[in-house]
Amino acid sequence: NKFEQLGLNEALLKAINDLGFETPSEVQEKAIPLLLEKDTDIVALAQTGTGKTAAFGFPLIQKIDPENRSTQALILSPTRELCLQITNEIKLYSKYIHGLNTVAVYGGASINDQARDVKRGAQIIVATPGRMQDMINRGLVNITQIDYCILDEADEMLNMGFYDDIVSILSNTPEDKSTWLFSATMPQEVARIAREFMRKPLEITV
Ligand code: AMP
Repeated sequence: NKFEQLGLNEALLKAINDLGFETPSEVQEKAIPLLLEKDTDIVALAQTGTGKTAAFGFPLIQKIDPENRSTQALILSPTRELCLQITNEIKLYSKYIHGLNTVAVYGGASINDQARDVKRGAQIIVATPGRMQDMINRGLVNITQIDYCILDEADEMLNMGFYDDIVSILSNTPEDKSTWLFSATMPQEVARIAREFMRKPLEITV
C-alpha cells in the first residue's frame, strides 16, 4: 500500500484500508508528504474528484492534537452540500482517533444546534463563509487560536460573493497559522487572497 510511504500514522492507514483506497491520487502524492513535513502555506490547483479532500484531510488529521479540545482548524467551503460532504469524509478518515471531533457549520439549519456542537469541543470546523461570519459576530465560535485554515474551492466561494466574509473571517485568525488554498482555477480574486493572506505559498498543480 503506497499510502504507507507518505508518512501517515497507523490510525489513518487503518481508516484508509477500511475505505479501500489503494493508491494515492496525484494531488495526494504531492500534498501529503509536503504538508506533513513542514508548516507551509500551499496553493493547490485541483478539480473536484481528484481526491483533494483527503489531500488536505489526512495531513490535517495527523497534525491536530485530539487531547486539546479547542478549535485548531477551519475549513471553508462554498456550499452546505460540500460542507457536509467534507465533514463526512473527515469523520471517516479520523474514526480511529479518539477525541477528534469535526463539526459542520452552514446556513439553513439551526445556529443554536451548531453552536452547541462547537461548544462541546470541535478541533475541526467545516463551514460555509456566511454562517461562519454569523457565528463569529454572535460570539459562538473562537477561531483565534487555529493552526490551520483550509480554503476549499476558493474560486467557487469567490464566485458566490464570499470575498468580504472570507477576508473578515481570516482577520479573526492568528497570523502564524498555515493556510492551504485549493481551487480549480486561479482568477484575480483568488490570486489576491493568496497574495494578501498567505505567506510564500508553495504551488501544487495536478
Ligand atoms: P474529492 O476529490 O475529495 O471530492 O474525492 C472524490 C472521491 O474519491 C471521494 O468519494 C473519495 O472518498 C474518493 N477518494 C479519494 N482519494 C481516493 C483514493 N486514493 N483512492 C480511491 N478513492 C479515493
